[in-house]
Amino acid sequence: MIPYGRQSISEEDVEAVSDILRSDWLTQGPTVTTFEQAVATTVRAKYAIAANSATSALHMACQALDMGPGDVLWTVPNTFVASANCARYCGALVDFVDIDPVTRNISLSALETKLQQAAKTGRLPKVIVPVHFSGRSCDMAAIAELARPHGIAIIEDASHAIGGFYAGEPIGCCRYSDITVFSFHPVKIVTSGEGGVAVTNSTALATKLKLAVSHGITRSPELMQNPSEGPWYYEQISLGENYRLTDIQAALGLSQMSRLHGFVQRRQALAQRYDRLLAGLPLELSQPDSPGSHSAWHLYVVRLTGSDTEVRTRRRAVFDRLRSEGIGVNVHYIPVHLQPYYRALGFKPGDFPAAENYYDGALTLPLYASLSEEQQDYVVDRLRQSII
Ligand SMILES: *Cc1c(COP(=O)(O)O)cnc(C)c1O
Repeated sequence: MIPYGRQSISEEDVEAVSDILRSDWLTQGPTVTTFEQAVATTVRAKYAIAANSATSALHMACQALDMGPGDVLWTVPNTFVASANCARYCGALVDFVDIDPVTRNISLSALETKLQQAAKTGRLPKVIVPVHFSGRSCDMAAIAELARPHGIAIIEDASHAIGGFYAGEPIGCCRYSDITVFSFHPVKIVTSGEGGVAVTNSTALATKLKLAVSHGITRSPELMQNPSEGPWYYEQISLGENYRLTDIQAALGLSQMSRLHGFVQRRQALAQRYDRLLAGLPLELSQPDSPGSHSAWHLYVVRLTGSDTEVRTRRRAVFDRLRSEGIGVNVHYIPVHLQPYYRALGFKPGDFPAAENYYDGALTLPLYASLSEEQQDYVVDRLRQSII
């Protein structure tokens, strides 16, 4: 089976992990710090805090921004459920903003309208989570311009997007956001097995993220409320979790980070090759990058053209046929508001028609650094056969 995504592990990666197994530290040693520094430097952010997943990092980000009961977080339906769940962990509410069918990211006009309405009714969100779907950045300058006058915080869910650029700067530099979160799950661009990193330029938020990752415990005298009772002394000053990344994982992540640029270039080349080979077929491809921006190409998604019910049937047929031919196509994403958990909170079909309509025809083709051109030709050939 040619999967839709997979990790690329080198002998250097294996060495890096075995070195840790022979060292004194398995969890939270010096390699976690080195990994954090590598991520911060690469994305040009001041602080990076590693966690055991992006889901954990999103939860920590919500905690750092003091999300709680009565607060509201907005994200898009075209994402993985974790972008929304992070608010629920804090007892906060979730609402969604529909997507732009061309960029497949948050719709700026839907955001503007929803903000105007929410300002009138006094129900503005505390946090907005734009998701850089497939690795392409949202228009962060425009989002910040809409959100900042209302004092709304922004967490970028960049789980797809490490190594991508927006307006001449790396995604994660946090010029237009408070915190950016990356995922190091094996299907993403670079991996640590499981892992996530939150980056920020704010010293206050970095301190809160650091507390959240490990029980709310500090050993920094300046954060303590009482005088130290001795070298063993620590204080728990907030309620945190154990979301720590291990040195074993950090060693893999660090080793992978040194190849990030090459991974993204290879994904980009394969994506451009797909664009060329698929041109002329009845498919909606993704829009080209705008100047100064480039996608990290986590996913290569095509959308079958056609109307709702009919396109759903055809997508199903194409999906089944490609799977039976050994091609691990997938679908990203089932709109989050249609998940039973969110339906039970009051959401229903028709609430976010652009995300629902996009989903009906969406199909993710295999894309990863070690995908060969021969494999890609096979995918294109089988896809062509199945849609015409
Ligand atoms: C993968 C993913 C996550 C969660 O990442 P984990 O590291 O698996 O917790 C969150 N948001 C999006 C958009 C993702 O694709």
